[in-house]
Amino acid sequence: MTVPSLSLNDGHSIPQLGFGVFQVPPDQTAATVTAALEVGYRHIDTAQMYGNEKGVGEALATSGIPRDELFVTTKLNNMNHAPDDVRRSFDESLRALGLDHVDLFLIHWPLPTQYDGDYVSTWKAMTELTADGRAKSVGVSNFEPDHLARVIDETGVLPAVNQVEVHPRFGNEAVRAANAEHGLLTEAWSPIGQGSILDDPTIGEIAERLGRTPAQVTLRWHVERGDIVFPKSMHRERMQENFALFDFDLSPDDVSAISGLDRGSAGRIGPDPATFDRI
Ligand code: NDP
Repeated sequence: MTVPSLSLNDGHSIPQLGFGVFQVPPDQTAATVTAALEVGYRHIDTAQMYGNEKGVGEALATSGIPRDELFVTTKLNNMNHAPDDVRRSFDESLRALGLDHVDLFLIHWPLPTQYDGDYVSTWKAMTELTADGRAKSVGVSNFEPDHLARVIDETGVLPAVNQVEVHPRFGNEAVRAANAEHGLLTEAWSPIGQGSILDDPTIGEIAERLGRTPAQVTLRWHVERGDIVFPKSMHRERMQENFALFDFDLSPDDVSAISGLDRGSAGRIGPDPATFDRI
C-alpha cells in the first residue's frame, strides 16, 4: 500500500497517513510504534505533552528504517511558550527522540488567554528552528482563523500545517477554509472521533455496501477531502485496517453524506481553542 505524499507550502512533503500516539502509555510506546512501523506507517505524530517521545525514538532507532523514509512530528508543550523555553524544550525533544532533526514541530495550543495573549513571539521562536534544519517544517495546532491570521500578518511566515480536531461530527469547516485560503494543509486530529463515530448508521451503510469497515470509510473521507490523518491504535489488526485506505474510494455522494453528519461545535470532542488555557 503506497501512502500519497502531499506538498507543504515550504517545499517539503508529508505522508497523508500517519500514526498518532496520544494516550499511548510511555512504557508501551516503543512496542506500539514498532508494530505500526512493521505495518507500514512511516509518519509518527507525538508531542511533548504525551510524555512518550522517548518510546517513539526507541522504536525508530531499532527499526533500521532510513531516517529519510520517516516523517516525525512533535509539538511544543503549553508550559514552554516563552521563546527561551521553545528553544530549550525543542532540544529536549530531539534528545528524547534520539534524532538530529524533526520533520515538523507544532505549537500545540495557541492559549490566547495566557502569556498576555502573545503566541506571536512563540511562533517567531518556532520559525527560527528551521534555519539550521533541525526542524524541517514548523506549524501550528488548534489555531482558529483569527490566531492564524495574526501570526501570518505579524511575522510573514506561513505555518506549514494547522492540526485541528476534524471528524464527521465536527467538520471544523471554517478553520479548514481558513487553512486552505492561506495555503496550508489541515491535519485532522481524532479522525475517527476516538472511536465514537464508528457506530454511526450512515457510515455503517456505506461501509457495508463497499465491503469496508466504518473506520476505513471515515478515514477515506478525510483522505478524499485532502486532509492528513494519523489514527491511533494499540491493536495491530486495527493498525492494519486503518492503513488500508488506498485501494478504494468513495463516491461524491458518499463523501457528502458523511459531511452531512456535522453537528457544528456540538460535535466537538476536545476543548474549544479560543478558551482552552491549561498550562
Ligand atoms: P482517533 O480518532 O485516532 O481514535 C483512537 C481510538 O479509536 C482509540 O481508542 C482506538 O482504540 C480506537 N480505534 C482505532 N482504530 C480503530 C478501529 N479500526 N476500529 C475500532 N476502534 C479503533 O483518536 P486520537 O485522539 O488518538 O487522534 C489521533 C491522533 O491525533 C492522536 O494520537 C494524536 O497524535 C493527534 N491528536 C492531536 C491533538 C492536538 O491537540 N493536536 C488532540 C488529539 C489527538 P485502541 O487504541 O484500543 O485500538
